[in-house]
Amino acid sequence: MAPNSADVVICGAGIAGIATAYHLSVWQGIRSVLLVDERSPLTFTSDKSTECYRNWWPGPGTAMVSLMNRSIDIMETLAGESGNVFHLNRRGYLFATADREHLDDFRTAAAEPATLGAGQLRIHNGQQDVGPYIPPQPAGFAGEPDGADLILDQALIRAQFPYLSPETIAVLHVRRAGWLSAQQLGMFMLERAKEQGVRFLSGKVVAVETVGGCVQVVHVAYPGGEKTIFTNIFVNAAGPFLWRTGTLLGVDIPVFAELHMKVMIKDRLEIVPRGAPLLIWNDTQYLPWNEAERALFAESDADRRLLELFPAGVHTRPEGGPGSTTILILWDYHERRTEPVPNPPLDPLYAEIALRGLATMLPQLRAYFGRMPKPLLDGGYYVKTRENRPLIGPLPVAGSYLIGALSGYGIMASSAAGELLAAHIAGVTLPDYAPAFSLARYQDPAYQALLEDWTDSGQL
Ligand SMILES: Cc1cc2nc3c(=O)[nH]c(=O)nc-3n(C[C@H](O)[C@H](O)[C@H](O)COP(=O)(O)OP(=O)(O)OC[C@H]3O[C@@H](n4cnc5c(N)ncnc54)[C@H](O)[C@@H]3O)c2cc1C
Repeated sequence: MAPNSADVVICGAGIAGIATAYHLSVWQGIRSVLLVDERSPLTFTSDKSTECYRNWWPGPGTAMVSLMNRSIDIMETLAGESGNVFHLNRRGYLFATADREHLDDFRTAAAEPATLGAGQLRIHNGQQDVGPYIPPQPAGFAGEPDGADLILDQALIRAQFPYLSPETIAVLHVRRAGWLSAQQLGMFMLERAKEQGVRFLSGKVVAVETVGGCVQVVHVAYPGGEKTIFTNIFVNAAGPFLWRTGTLLGVDIPVFAELHMKVMIKDRLEIVPRGAPLLIWNDTQYLPWNEAERALFAESDADRRLLELFPAGVHTRPEGGPGSTTILILWDYHERRTEPVPNPPLDPLYAEIALRGLATMLPQLRAYFGRMPKPLLDGGYYVKTRENRPLIGPLPVAGSYLIGALSGYGIMASSAAGELLAAHIAGVTLPDYAPAFSLARYQDPAYQALLEDWTDSGQL
């Protein structure tokens, strides 16, 4: 291979680009792969994530559940191979609700993924015999249950989750779920790919030339120069810059970006148990302010929003090994489409709002009201299609491909997404779910009709 050529050039060394390089080189035997990024690998979106995973996804169809099941299979294999260097656990996602009015909706939503291949739903209501509820192990994943446990038995909820609000009337514990170190997973795949010959080039892809409608040359700019790379295959794995990179080929990729934030605090009182699953409050809520605070906010145009109804979905999990007291808190209370920029602007009130919201689920957190531990804030972009499904497959220009729109699930999906794109490029048999993630799906009138009534994005 000439130094200025490659069989495949991948723009973007986030988790998606790296997973693609790994599957191309290790499993498809395509070793002349050049990963190009203007940043260090895994440093734009892929290091901002909560690093959680689950196979529990809604329809329509089985595609999302199948993709996630496959991704988790691959991650479990890699964990086995590497001595679990990326700390894959299986603590699960625990959705909790206190909303009697919407309990039927909660039950219906809980039941759907079970019909799509995500595993059995066991309902613990003190009447049916579904066997005992099995609490999760804090580390590792072997031997853990799959499917999900819907617990309606109040005594069981109080016994297993005494830290949840006493108002809680139902919890759904999704079991093929947990978290991992995305950085370690990414670096493990990158190292394996490099062993097979994959190279990394630091620079920005600024142009892609085609000849006769086929990819021919990729131009990479770096401080002090520009490199010309000859290739017939170009992969757009540019994360938040997916759309912009599409324009280099004259392709309009139907995606948009939203800024999402997360905050880390030291939970010095260990209110979130260190062995807890990911804890998610499923209800909308008004934030717990005192009367003086309410009166103050009511007077200010800027602060009045703090008195409005906030959406469902505030969540938290413990982070770090023995000795750590850190928790991560996320709450997408103000999803907004926005143009991605290199240093996203962060809401200074985010930490306070997220903590208040979380205290509705975990009332003991009120101990931190007015004495908030020093928050560490960061954020990144969810890149989404309108129905929140990814784009993985060929682009209309011959030799060009994309892997992206991985929204808030790119860490969990990247292993299967990279495998799928590598299969497209290598021209081998594709899995059944491939068409559900191709750009070409939007040309299908039946899919267009489906989009009209698409309501559940499945996103936390
Ligand atoms: C707050 C938050 C929480 C999240 N939580 C979870 C979670 O719990 N579980 C989960 O699975 N996912 C989660 N996600 C989503 C996940 O992080 C993303 O889906 C995933 O990281 C996207 O990976 P990517 O490789 O597509 O993009 P990125 O990681 O952004 O990588 C794209 C790369 O392309 C490079 N690039 C772009 N344009 C060019 C160019 N022209 N030339 C050279 N390089 C270029 C960029 O520098 C960047 O490094 C979360 C995201 C956020 C923001």
